Amino acid sequence: MRKKLAAGNWKMNGTTASLAEVDALLAAHPASKCEILLCPPATLVSAMAARIGDGPIHTGGQDCHAEPSGAHTGDIAAGMLVDAGASHVIVGHSERRQDHNETDADIRAKATTATATGLVAVICCGESDNQRVAGQTLDVIGTQLAGSIPDNATAANTVVAYEPIWAIGTGKVPTLEQIGEVHDFIRKILIDRFGTETGDNISILYGGSVKPTNASEIFAVSNVDGALVGGASLKAADFTGIISALETA
Ligand code: PEP
Repeated sequence: MRKKLAAGNWKMNGTTASLAEVDALLAAHPASKCEILLCPPATLVSAMAARIGDGPIHTGGQDCHAEPSGAHTGDIAAGMLVDAGASHVIVGHSERRQDHNETDADIRAKATTATATGLVAVICCGESDNQRVAGQTLDVIGTQLAGSIPDNATAANTVVAYEPIWAIGTGKVPTLEQIGEVHDFIRKILIDRFGTETGDNISILYGGSVKPTNASEIFAVSNVDGALVGGASLKAADFTGIISALETA
C-alpha cells in the first residue's frame, strides 16, 4: 500500500514565530491517515521537531550535503538533520539545481548519504518551460531520475516529487492529463528499475502551485500519491485544505 504524503517546503521563509502554524496544523489533524511533512529552513528544524514531539507531523530538511562532516561552510550533514529531529530531506529541488548548479550525480550522492543515515529522501525532478514546449519532458524526467535515484532506493526510504519548474510559484498548473502522463511514466521507470514490489510502492508527489482549490482534482490523477507544496504550506489554513483533500482522495 503506497503512502499518501502531504509535504510542505517552507524554503527560505519562517522564523520561530512561524511555529504557531505547526500548532494549528496539529490541532486540525490530530490523527491523519496521510503522512504530513513540513520542511522548514534549517534554523527551525530542531525547534519544529521538538514542538511536534510524537505528533503526526514529520519534520524534514530542504537539502543535505553528501559528506557526513567536514570543511563545507554553510552546509548541513544528513546526520545533523537526524540529530535535530528530522525524518526526511528534500534533495534535488529545482531551486537547488538552478541556484547551486546541482547535477543529477550530486543529488544521487546526497540521496545515498541521506538514506544511509536513516532519512527518507524526497528526490525532485521536473522540466523547464522550454523543455516542455520542445516536447522533451519525458526525456528530461527519465534522465533526471536515472541519474538522481540511488540503487539502494526502497519504498521506505525514497519518495519522488515531480515538479515542473514552470509551475513552481507561478500559479500555472499542468493539465490533469499532463500530470497523469508524467506520473505514469515515473511509475514505469520505478518498476522497470526496481521491480514491482519496490517500484509500485514508492510514493510519487506532484508539486507546482498546488492550492486547496485544485488539490482534489490533482489527487484524483493516477499515480499521484500526494503533493510537495511551497507557498500554500506556509499558512496552516491553506495547507490544511490540501491535507484534507488528500485524506479524502
Ligand atoms: C515547490 O517549491 O516545491 C513548490 C511546489 O512551490 P509552490 O507550491 O509554491 O508552487
